[in-house]
Order: sequence, then structure tokens, then C-alpha cells
Amino acid sequence: MIRLFVALGLPEAVRERLTLVRAPLPGARWVPVENMHITLRFIGEVEPAVAEDIDDHLSRLTAPGFDIRLAGLGTFGSRGRVRALWAGVENTEPLLHLQAKIEAASMRAGLPAESRKFHPHVTLARCKNAPEGPAADFVATYGSFDLPPIPVDAFTLYASQTGRSGALYTPEAVYPLEL
Ligand code: ATP
Ligand code: MG
Repeated sequence: MIRLFVALGLPEAVRERLTLVRAPLPGARWVPVENMHITLRFIGEVEPAVAEDIDDHLSRLTAPGFDIRLAGLGTFGSRGRVRALWAGVENTEPLLHLQAKIEAASMRAGLPAESRKFHPHVTLARCKNAPEGPAADFVATYGSFDLPPIPVDAFTLYASQTGRSGALYTPEAVYPLEL
């Protein structure tokens, strides 16, 4: 089995800039700079033959390139606890178009439909049992940064090896977008 997800990589300068959005936050484990990305479709564990099928459908997908903009910070969580701290990505039409095409390709490859709403973001920290208060303060203090638009000319199928020493993501295939 191989654990896969489809994502946009980010230029090194942008990832480096995002590592500056750090300050002591109880329970936070900061995502290493090389791991920062925008997930478009989490696939999960599949057999190699299914991975081949997914690659096949993704490589036939066509969509135009576009710019993305990062905007603000936010958190995921529930019941007073924060699970993740992230930088938001403006949800623009071309991004949604690409995400929808990747979803359609995933379905054609036989994957079950993604039921969660698409919420584009760059995870900056995973949190374990982190209370909401300090995270909300963090978002209020560091949430207003302004970064130039980021050109997106490709998307990537990543293999993910998760383990105690952290996740290792390996690009399995890069699919160019149209100019
Ligand atoms: P770890 O699980 O060890 O914390 P990770 O979450 O970085 O590491 P994966 O679980 O392989 O590694 O996830 C890869 C990407 O897919 C990450 O961006 C993660 O947030 C996202 N992801 C993981 N599970 C889901 C899911 N069920 N639905 C949507 N996105 C997911
Ligand atoms: Mg995970």
C-alpha cells in the first residue's frame, strides 16, 4: 500500500516566509519548512495498481495555471480544542476548478467521493490538546501578513510516509497546468 495525496507545492521563499509565523504556542508542533503544501485531495492508502490508475487520470487532466494568494491565519478544532493552525488560501475560481477536476479524476479512478468541504490552507502547526484561547491570541497577533501572489503552474501527487519522526513527503508525479 502507498499513502497518497494531491497538493500544490509552494516556492521555497514562501515556505521560508511562513516559518517566520512562529511563536511559543502550547501544544503546537510546527510543520518543517520542506513539508509545507496546500492539499487538494487526500487519497490515503491505496494498492500500487490503484496508484497507477490515479496517476493515469491525473496526467490526462487539463486546467489552466493561476495565481494564489495566502490570506490570514485560522484554526481547525472542536470542543474548545485546537487541532491545527493554518494560513488560509483565497478560494478563487481557478483553484476551485482545479480541485473539482482532481476530484472528478479521483472518482474515475474508483476512489470514494470526498465528503468534506474543500478548505484550502497551508498547515503551519499540528496541535495536541491545545486550548483555544492562546491559539486565538496567536491568530489575532500574527494573522495579518501580506504576501505577493504565488504563481501555480503545476500540481503534484505526493507519497506520504508518516512516522514518529514526522511525515516524509515524496513527489511521485508532477502535472503541469496550461499556460
Ligand atoms: P501525520 O499524519 O503523521 O501527522 P500528515 O498529516 O502530514 O502527517 P498525512 O496524514 O499523510 O500526513 O496527510 C497528508 C496531507 O493530507 C496533509 O496535508 C493532511 O493534512 C491531509 N490529510 C490527511 N488526512 C486527511 C483527511 N482525512 N482529509 C483531508 N485531508 C487529509
Ligand atoms: Mg495526517
